[in-house]
Amino acid sequence: MPPRNSKDSRMLFTQAPDSTSHQTGGAPSTRAKKATTACQACQKRKSKCVGGEPCEPCQKANTECVINADNDGRRRIILKRKIESLEQDRNLFELLVEGIRNDEERQVPWILNMIRSNVSLDEIRLYLTESQGTSHSHNVQMKSPTSSSKRFMDVRRISDIPLYEVPAQPWTSVTIDGSFVSHLVSHYFTWQHSTLNWIDRDLFLADMRVGKLDSRFCSPLLVNIMLACACFYSDYPEVFAKPDDPSTRGEHFLEEAMQHLAMEEDRLRLTTLQAWGDIYTIACIMGKDRVASQYLVRIADCISQAMNNRQRMISEANEQAPEMARSIDIAIFGLFSQYSVAILSLQKGATVTRPTTLEYFPEIHDPDDIWTPYPPQGEPIAAHTNCLKNGLFDQGLITWEICDYLFGDENNTRVDPEIINTFHQRFEIWAEKLPQCIKLGYASTPGVMEMHMRYHNAILVMFGFVTPNTKEGESTMKDRIKSLRTSSARHIGTILSQFRSLWPVKCMPMTAMRYATIALLTLFEDLDDVQNQRAFTDIVIILRALASRWQFAKGLLRLVQLTTLKQDTSLPGGTVAMLRDLPSSSGKHRRDSDSAAGLPPAWPL
Ligand SMILES: [Zn+2]
Ligand SMILES: [Zn+2]
Ligand SMILES: [Zn+2]
Repeated sequence: MPPRNSKDSRMLFTQAPDSTSHQTGGAPSTRAKKATTACQACQKRKSKCVGGEPCEPCQKANTECVINADNDGRRRIILKRKIESLEQDRNLFELLVEGIRNDEERQVPWILNMIRSNVSLDEIRLYLTESQGTSHSHNVQMKSPTSSSKRFMDVRRISDIPLYEVPAQPWTSVTIDGSFVSHLVSHYFTWQHSTLNWIDRDLFLADMRVGKLDSRFCSPLLVNIMLACACFYSDYPEVFAKPDDPSTRGEHFLEEAMQHLAMEEDRLRLTTLQAWGDIYTIACIMGKDRVASQYLVRIADCISQAMNNRQRMISEANEQAPEMARSIDIAIFGLFSQYSVAILSLQKGATVTRPTTLEYFPEIHDPDDIWTPYPPQGEPIAAHTNCLKNGLFDQGLITWEICDYLFGDENNTRVDPEIINTFHQRFEIWAEKLPQCIKLGYASTPGVMEMHMRYHNAILVMFGFVTPNTKEGESTMKDRIKSLRTSSARHIGTILSQFRSLWPVKCMPMTAMRYATIALLTLFEDLDDVQNQRAFTDIVIILRALASRWQFAKGLLRLVQLTTLKQDTSLPGGTVAMLRDLPSSSGKHRRDSDSAAGLPPAWPL
C-alpha cells in the first residue's frame, strides 16, 4: 500500500499558503495568514494575535475573544487538520483490512492484543505500516519511505542478531557488509538448508568464517549462489540488484556465482556439486523452468561423478578425509532426494543410477543438533538432522523407482494399477517405519514438514496416472484412489497451515508451492465436500500470499486460476475473488512464469 497519508498531508502543507493568499487578493502569504487568523479584538487594536481561546492579548486586555467565522483562517487550518486526521484514520482502516486479509506475518493476534491493551491509534498505525512495509510493499516503501517505517526498519536491523557471523570478504564482491552477509547466510541455513540439505553446515561455516579460500568445504561459487537463494527470504533493500526492481532479487549474487562457475575446472569439486543444487533451486524460484530442467540433467551428471569418484575425492582430502567422506555422503543423499522429487514433478525418467554403496547416517540424538528459527520467532526445535537425511533418502529411492516405472520407458503407455498399489504400500511401510522423532507432530521442523509433503505429493502424482475402467469391480478402486488422493491433498493443506501458524509464509520452502498447487487442483475435483472446501480455501490464501513475493508462485496461481475459473464449479466463498484478482507482475521484466502459455505440463521443482 502506498504511504498515501504522508503524501496527502505533504500536499496539504505545501498548498496551504497559496490558497490563503488567493482568497485575500494576492497579499503576501505570511501577512494574509496573520490577518485572517486574528480575532476581532486583535484586529481592532492591530496587535499580533497568536491564537488560542481566548488568545493571549485578549486574556491580558480582558477583552472578548471572538473570531470572525466568515473569514477565519484558523478554522481553515482546523479543517485541514481534521481532513489530515481523517486521512490518517482512513489509512489506518485500510492498513487494518489489508493486515487481516493477508495476515502474511500472522499478525492478527498481535493487532487484537494491541487494540485490547489500549495502545494509541498512532502506535497501531506505525506497527501496521512497518509490518506491511516489510512484507509485501517494500518496493513502494523504498521509493518513498515514510519516516516511521524507515525508522522501524532501521531499529529492526540494529536489533537483528544473525545466527551465524561470517565475513563478506573474500567471498563476494557484491557487498562488503559482513552483517548483511551474515543475515543472508542465517536465512539460508534456517529456511532453505533445513528442507534442501546437501551441505555440512559446520564445516562450511568454519572455513567461511576464517576466509580460507583454498577450502574444500567452502568456495566463492557456493557462497554467492547461497546468498542469491537467501535473498528470497530477506526484506533488506540490498537483496535487489536494482534498487527499485523487485524482479532483480538476488541477481547480483547469482551473476557473480555464474562467473565463478564458468571458471571451474572440469574435475568435480565437492563445493561445485553442492552449488549445482542451489543453481537448480534458484532457477526454479525465478521461474526459469526451461533452464531449470537443463540444470537437472547437470545435477544427475554431478551425482554420478561424485559416486564414481568418491574414493579419490576422499583420499585427496588427506588429513580431512573423514570430513570429506561425510560431506560427500551428505551431498549425495541431499541431491539425490531433491533430484527424485524434481523428476517426479517433471515427469521424467531418472538419468542417474540408484546409489548403492552409501551408508546411513548414525541416528544419534545430539542435544546440540537444534533448529533455531531466524529471525527469532517461536522456540528452537530438536533438528534430527541425520534421522531426516535417512528418511528423505529412503523416500527418494521409492520416488526414483516410481519415476523409472512411469517415465523411464516411453513405450510403456499402460500404467498397471497393481504396480502403483505396490509403490503405495512401500510408501506406507516407509511412513510407518520412520522414527517417532520425525513423524509429523507439534515440534516438527520445516524439514520434517517438507518430507511429509513430498510423501503426499508422490501419492497425488502417481495415482493421477491410474485411470481405472468403468468396468464392474473397478469402480471400488476408483473410489479408493479418489479418497487416497483427496486425503493426501488435505494433508498437504494441513501441513501448510501448520507451517503458517508457526512461521511467516515467506519462509515457506519454495518446493511447498509445487505441493500446494497439485493439492489445490486435486481438491478442486471434489468441492462438494466441506472439508475439501476448507482445505482449498486455506491453500489459496497461502499461495496468494506467496504470489505477491515470488515470480514462480504467481505462475502457479495463474495455472490454478485458468483451471478453476474456466469451469462452472462454484468455488468456496472468497476464493473466487482471490483467484480472479491476481496481484499484477511486480517486476519490469517478463519471466517465463508470467505467461501461462509458457508453463510446462508439470512444474519443475
Ligand atoms: Zn487575538
Ligand atoms: Zn482574542
Ligand atoms: Zn531423531
